[in-house]
Amino acid sequence: MKETKSRKRQREKHGRPQNMASASSKIKKSSSDFLDKMRARLSGGHFRMINEKLYTCTGDEALNYFKEDPSLFDMYHTGYQEQMSHWPEQPVNIIIQWLKAHSSSLVVADFGCGDARLAKNVKNKVFSFDLVSNDPSVIACDMSNTPLDASSIDVVVFCLSLMGTNFSSYLEEAHRVLKPSGRLLIAEVKSRFDPNTGGADPKMFSKAISDLGFTSTLKDFSNKMFVLLYFQKKGKENSTRKGIEWPDLKPCLYKRR
Ligand code: SAH
Repeated sequence: MKETKSRKRQREKHGRPQNMASASSKIKKSSSDFLDKMRARLSGGHFRMINEKLYTCTGDEALNYFKEDPSLFDMYHTGYQEQMSHWPEQPVNIIIQWLKAHSSSLVVADFGCGDARLAKNVKNKVFSFDLVSNDPSVIACDMSNTPLDASSIDVVVFCLSLMGTNFSSYLEEAHRVLKPSGRLLIAEVKSRFDPNTGGADPKMFSKAISDLGFTSTLKDFSNKMFVLLYFQKKGKENSTRKGIEWPDLKPCLYKRR
């Protein structure tokens, strides 16, 4: 077909006819939207896989898993932050507030610290532990076996980190490193403590921790997403590790959004 004079003038002035340019930018936009969605879906899938793995293996196995491929740790934390962004309140902030309301001379150990947000937001001396260290302040280890001295810590924090099937050994390690009267602050996903949906009986969990050598100081179930369970180490070193009945803590598996 012959090009009309006005069409020719328009093409010479603007390069391609305008409607074609806008159609191609629309196609580009929708294909980049599609790729973004695909990427988000794939990384969401990876996150859920790694998350399930961490809840269904021991800390030792998890440590080796990340040693083989440390990039999985970043993938996990990207997905974790995405999930957390939907929570109205972050439990780590409640623990930060607790620490700010107490003396900054208390020495803290953050077991399963993630991006070490806690250490970055308080004045206290904080030892931060996680399976992988992406920051010089974070010590990479399995938290059932930290390099801390016995009876050297005032506050041990587990914020959504009682993930391994051997979680009781993390609590035993907390008991070992805490000073007498030291505090144990636990924030955990609420559904893990809902017996109606296969979760643990919170009374049984608290009793097991008490049997380990702690006194319960707070049970707060008021938040929709997480529970807060605080304890204080008993003065005497009378921990009986044997014969304690630990409930199973069911994995917290995230749904596809
Ligand atoms: N406490 C942080 C991160 C929670 S995600 C926060 O509230 O933001 C749970 C973290 O626990 C993950 O980073 C995971 O790697 C860590 N974790 C799980 N099992 C662990 C273990 N055995 N030893 C050390 N860290 C562990």
